[in-house]
This record gives sequence, structure tokens and C-alpha cells, in this order.
Amino acid sequence: MAAAEWWLECDSCGRQTESSELAACANCGEATVIRYAALPQTLASPNTSGIWRYRDWLPIAAQTAPISLGEGETPIVRLDRWAGQIGLRRVYAKLEFAGPTGSFKDRGAAVLVTHCVESGARVIIEDSSGNAGAALAAYAARAGLECKVFAPAATPAAKLHQVRVCGATVVTVAGDREDVAIAAQAAARSGHRGDYYAGHNSNPYFVEGMKSFAFELAEHREAGVVDHVVMPVGGGSLYCGAALGFGQMRQAGLRAAHPRMHLVQAAACMPIVAAFDRHEDRPPPVQPSPSIAGGILIANPPRGRMILRILGESDGSAVAVTEEEILAAQTAVARLEGISMEPTSAAAFAGLARLARSGAVGPDEVVVVPVTGSGLKDQMAVSNARP
Ligand SMILES: [Zn+2]
Repeated sequence: MAAAEWWLECDSCGRQTESSELAACANCGEATVIRYAALPQTLASPNTSGIWRYRDWLPIAAQTAPISLGEGETPIVRLDRWAGQIGLRRVYAKLEFAGPTGSFKDRGAAVLVTHCVESGARVIIEDSSGNAGAALAAYAARAGLECKVFAPAATPAAKLHQVRVCGATVVTVAGDREDVAIAAQAAARSGHRGDYYAGHNSNPYFVEGMKSFAFELAEHREAGVVDHVVMPVGGGSLYCGAALGFGQMRQAGLRAAHPRMHLVQAAACMPIVAAFDRHEDRPPPVQPSPSIAGGILIANPPRGRMILRILGESDGSAVAVTEEEILAAQTAVARLEGISMEPTSAAAFAGLARLARSGAVGPDEVVVVPVTGSGLKDQMAVSNARP
């Protein structure tokens, strides 16, 4: 059964909108999500693979051919040695860096670019600190669309190379991550017919692709009974998408876990943690400091209120970690488990170590942590991690 009907609405105030390009609700400023009139009764479709196994749960017409590079179905591995060191016994890593462009962003890029093809877009305009730009550049190339990626001037060279090699144009912007988003939105507004603003932190189709993370966990024999999910959060596309996935499974009457959804930010930029600590429902303005965790340096997340809502509803915690903790976790997981990850991903492991120390995560509870990006993405930071 195909999803018969869906529409866009603001997650915060419910205002409906026509355009998926809007970075913010005209009424309240929060980002939009997709709501469905009906949900499927089964999770996976037969004779499909990757995230497209769940295509009945996606806002893509049944007759549309997906733009796919084989994204999804990433491995789930148990971490015994590192987990033992922090006093836990049932920790699983979901190796999102096994995606076609080396990060979890492929899930969102596949759905978003398929939507762009469906809607007749010709030029995809994105702002990214690296991984989403690389993913969108790759899927745009696959679809035969033009792609322009606006990136902070401090983006690691390997990530920008990955964007350019797929034929996308890179525009580097001085200033912080928000300045980059503003520049991309201005370019999309002043552009031509067929330009599509794809800002992945606010785009509802991108977040839809992330639901597959929750669906894949639900189908896993051991990790499917997950008590806790711990994620690094900047814009929160994976965090919000996974929560939508868990929520829709329960809404459809399917057996699905209701994990506590914890999030981790770098102490250098922690708007969500600050709001959580003060029991506020929207993130306060913050001034980010430099950090090795470039993927989560989002001072003003477009889904800030949604992230805080999910935190509250799932009884999750929000923790901030220092640069030293991120480097220590990156080194420890690589040495004890053979998994090399970029610093942004290591922030989640540093956060889990904190949650274990505080008792928020019990020794026998099942925890899943996504390894969101490959260590090959930011080799300078990986080599700096070695003593
Ligand atoms: Zn609104």
C-alpha cells in the first residue's frame, strides 16, 4: 500500500504550508514536518532494498523511481571492549559511515533528491558543514541535477573535495554556520526557476529519509529492544527523523521500542543543552566557540523546539562534552573496537560515557549509538587524536 496522502505542517504550531523549501514556519519560525492521513500496516515492502524497503512510509509517489546509491541497511555491531570500560554490557554501534558517501546523510539525501526530481527542480542549493553537502552532491549527480553547496570556510578539505569531485559548485562563506545558511537561502531566493533550497536541517523530505534508522533498528533481533539511543545533535535531522520513525511505528500499531532519546552537543556550542538545563521549550541564542566537532556546531537549530519536545516526551537527557572528552572517546573506540570515526560522531560516545557514570543508562540496558561519519572524512582530527 502506498502512503495515500501527506501534507506539510509546522511541528510546533501546526500551520500547514505548500513549499518544502521554507526554512521556517511563517507563523512561528519552527521547521516543517510531513504528516500522513494513513500509515502502512507492515514495515518493509518485498523485493526492495536499503531505505526503499520502507518506501510506503515515505512521501514519494509509488510510480517514482528512487534516486539511490544503495543507502541504508548499515551494520549494527556490539561493542564489548569499549562498553566494558564504561561499565555497560549491551552497547551497539550502528555504522552509518558505511553509507555510500561515508555518513548517515545519505538516507536523507536519497529521499530529498528523489523529491527534487519529482517536483521538477533543476538546481539544488544546500548549506552544509561537509557531510550533507557531500551526500547531496553525490545524489544530485546521480539524478543529473546541478548542485551548489555553501560551506563554512573552515570545512575540512577532504569534505569539500568530496563535494567538488561529484561536480557540485562549492561556495565558501566566512562567518559561522548560520551565516552560511543565510547565504544559501539568499542565493536560492535570487536565483532562477528550478532552483530548490534544500537546507537539510530544515527540509522535511531530508528528515523523512532518517526514519529508516528507526525502522532498521526495529527489525534487528537484539538492538530492536533498544532502551536508549544516544546521538550527536547539531541540526537534529537524524534525531528528529528517528523519533518520527519510532512514533509512526507505534501509531500504526506495530511493535516498536520507545527508547529514551539522549542527545550530545559539544560544550563549544550547546543551545539545546542550555535550554534543557533551564527547562525552556526553545533554545536560547548562543555564540559558538571553535570545536573539532564541526558537524554539530549549529547555534540556532531550525528544529530546536521539536528536538526539545522529543527530549521531554522520550525522557531523554541532553549532555555537553568537552573537546578533550571527544578526542578521548575517538581514540578509545578506535583502539578497543577498530572503529575510526570523525570527532562529531565521537561526541556521542563521550556523552554515553557521561550517561553511564551518572547512572542515566544502566549496565544491562540496550544502548544504540550511530557512528554518523567516517574517520576518513576528517583525517587531521583523527591523527590529532593520537597521543
Ligand atoms: Zn509554526
